[in-house]
Amino acid sequence: MNRRTFIQRTGVPIGGAALASLLPGPLMAASPAPTPTRSPRGAPTSDVVVIGGGAFGAWTALALREMGHRVTLIDAYGPGNSRATSGDETRQIRVGYGEREGYARMAQRAMDAWRTREAEFGIPLLTTTGRLEIAPDWTPALRATQAMLSRFGVPTEAFTAEELRRRYPQMGFDGIGVGLLEPGAGVVRAKQAILATADAFCRKGGTLIIQHAAPGRAEGGRLVECMLADGTCVAAQQFIFACGPWLPKVFPELLGRRIKVPKRDVLYFGIPAGDTRFAPPALPNFSESAYYGSPSIDGRGVKVCPTNGPDNWDPDVDERVVDPVQVRRARAYLARRFPALAAQPITETRVCQLENTDDEHFIVDRHPSYANVLIAGGGSGHAFKHGPVLGEHIARRAVGDATDPVFDAMVRLAR
Ligand SMILES: Cc1cc2nc3c(=O)[nH]c(=O)nc-3n(C[C@H](O)[C@H](O)[C@H](O)COP(=O)(O)OP(=O)(O)OC[C@H]3O[C@@H](n4cnc5c(N)ncnc54)[C@H](O)[C@@H]3O)c2cc1C
Repeated sequence: MNRRTFIQRTGVPIGGAALASLLPGPLMAASPAPTPTRSPRGAPTSDVVVIGGGAFGAWTALALREMGHRVTLIDAYGPGNSRATSGDETRQIRVGYGEREGYARMAQRAMDAWRTREAEFGIPLLTTTGRLEIAPDWTPALRATQAMLSRFGVPTEAFTAEELRRRYPQMGFDGIGVGLLEPGAGVVRAKQAILATADAFCRKGGTLIIQHAAPGRAEGGRLVECMLADGTCVAAQQFIFACGPWLPKVFPELLGRRIKVPKRDVLYFGIPAGDTRFAPPALPNFSESAYYGSPSIDGRGVKVCPTNGPDNWDPDVDERVVDPVQVRRARAYLARRFPALAAQPITETRVCQLENTDDEHFIVDRHPSYANVLIAGGGSGHAFKHGPVLGEHIARRAVGDATDPVFDAMVRLAR
C-alpha cells in the first residue's frame, strides 16, 4: 500500500500528508479501515471520538479500537507533533513514586505493557537505564519510594556518598549524602512511541483525522457532535477530550483554573568523543530536587531538565526557544554534577510544557454538563510512562466497563 492509499483509508481529509511524512516506512503497511458511516445530518458517525492523539488519547483510541469499537481519533497537528507534550524525544519510566501507590502499581504494569507493545510494533521503544535519585539525606519521600518498591518486589540499591562516588566516578556528589537506584527504570522513545501507537490504531481499522476540533451541538445533556475547523462535524455516542495542555482552551470555564501550563526547557549536552561514561549502562537517569535528566540515548547527549519556567505557556503560538537563563542554570548544574561535561556544547534543545493540576493527580472524569464526554489529561509531568495501561483504563471508563474505583476516585474532577 502506498502512502496516498494509506491516507485515504485512514480518513485523513486535510493535512494527512504531514502525518504520512512522519510515519516511518515499515509502519505504513495497513489493513483497510472502515469508512465512518454518516449521521442523518451528514456528519461521520463513530461509537467514540477521541480528540487529542498524545499519551492519553492515542493509547485510549487504540484500546477502544482493540475492544471492537468504531473509533475516530482527531488531532489538530497530528499524533506526536512537536507542540504536544508527548512529542519530545524521550520520557522516563520508573515504578518508584513516593507514597503514591496507585501510580506505582500502574507504572509496574506499564513496564510490561511497553515491552509487549515494543515487540508488537517491531521498533525499539524502551531502553533500560536505571534511575538514581540523590539527596543530601534520606527524606520521607525517598524512604517511601524505597519501601513501596520493596513491597512491590522491585529491586533497589541504596548508597552512601562514599558508595556513590565509587559507583559513579563520572559524577560529582557535592552536597549529596544518599542515593537510591531503581535499576529496572528506563527511557521510552516518546515521539516514536506515539507515532507507532497511532499507526497501530490506523492499521487496526481506526479513523484518524488531522483537524482542530471543538465541542459542537448538544442535546439533552449529551454532546451530539464535535465541530472541525473545516466546518464539518463528527458525531458519536461518546467523546473523550484528551487535549493535554490545550484542555484549558477547550473548556476554559471548567479547566482554566484547574490546569496550569508551565513552559519547560530541555537541554541536551554533547559528550566527549569516544566517552562511554555518559550513556547507558554507565549512567542512569538522575534526579534531585531542582533538576533531573537522562544519559545520552541514541547519541543525542545528556538530557538536563531544570524544573522551573513561566506558568502561562500557550502551546499553539509561543515560540519554542530555550531561555538563556535556563541554559546558564543547566551549565552550572553540569559543572557541579558532571564536571567533564561543563564545557561541552549543547547538541539539541526542546521546549515542552506541562499540564499541571494542583495536586499533580491526573483528571479522568465526566464533563459535568455532558453525560457522554470524558475529560482525560492533567498529566502533571508524569503521565507518559503509563500510556498503554492508562489508555485501557480510560477506554473502559468511556464505554461504561468496570474500572478500578480507587484510581477513579483519585483522578476525579471534583477533588
Ligand atoms: C519536560 C517534560 C518532561 C516530562 N518527563 C516525563 C517523564 O519522564 N515521564 C513521564 O511519564 N512523563 C513525563 N512528562 C509528562 C508527559 O510527557 C505528559 O504527561 C504527557 O505526554 C501528556 O500527554 P497528553 O496526551 O495529555 O498531552 P499531549 O501529548 O500534549 O497531547 C495532546 C494532543 O491533543 C491535540 N489537541 C489539542 N487540542 C486539540 C483540539 N482542539 N483538537 C484536536 N486536537 C487537539 C494536540 O495536537 C496534541 O497532540 C514530562 C513532561 C514534560 C513537559
